[in-house]
Amino acid sequence: MSSVFEETERKYPGSASTVARNWERLIRDRTEASVPCNGCNACCRSKTLQAQVRGDELERFPDAVWNDNTNSYVLKKNDDGSCTRLVDGKCSVYADRPKSCSGYDCRFHLLAGVIPDGNDPVMQEAVLQWDVLAIKSRGDAEILAAYRLAANDGGAPSTVGDAEVKSARWREFLSPVRMHMQSMSLNECREMYRDADEEARRSVADAAAASAR
Ligand code: SF4
Ligand code: SF4
Repeated sequence: MSSVFEETERKYPGSASTVARNWERLIRDRTEASVPCNGCNACCRSKTLQAQVRGDELERFPDAVWNDNTNSYVLKKNDDGSCTRLVDGKCSVYADRPKSCSGYDCRFHLLAGVIPDGNDPVMQEAVLQWDVLAIKSRGDAEILAAYRLAANDGGAPSTVGDAEVKSARWREFLSPVRMHMQSMSLNECREMYRDADEEARRSVADAAAASAR
């Protein structure tokens, strides 16, 4: 686990506004995600993520089973939690994979400021492989602030699904965010988010170290 906490190991995720706009497109248009995965296959190995299968995809996946939690059909998993279509580390149905797979972007966690807990170490490591989102402009800082506020509205999100639903309302938070941040310089905005994200990573690292003892 320790290597994912090293600064030098992290991948560049893009700017906050780029990732946010990708997310909006995924939710609105159900397009294919464009994520620089670079050989990662964590979301296919996660115990908690399920590949959901829509009604019009059932013909391609007749062995999909109904899941009450996701209220959808899902692909079966192996005993270790990985997807049954993952073969030798690669998706064996990649060109025809369900939309829920092609439309998945784990960088949503960076926007919402949610790091998976120790119940899903595979996805925890996957999220920690990214550096914090780049803030290149005031627009980046404002969008990130609005996402975080929306995701935390009514209390910190208890699940990623909860964070997704809440943070879809991020535009509602842009005006108050702009008012609040107008006295801050861009550098102060960057430092504020880097400090907050590094603190969240330290907490996760401490929890991982404590559970390993
Ligand atoms: S967890 Fe993220 S980086 Fe890894 S394969 Fe899935 S989308 Fe790509
Ligand atoms: S169908 Fe393919 S992309 Fe989707 S979870 Fe399974 S292995 Fe991964």
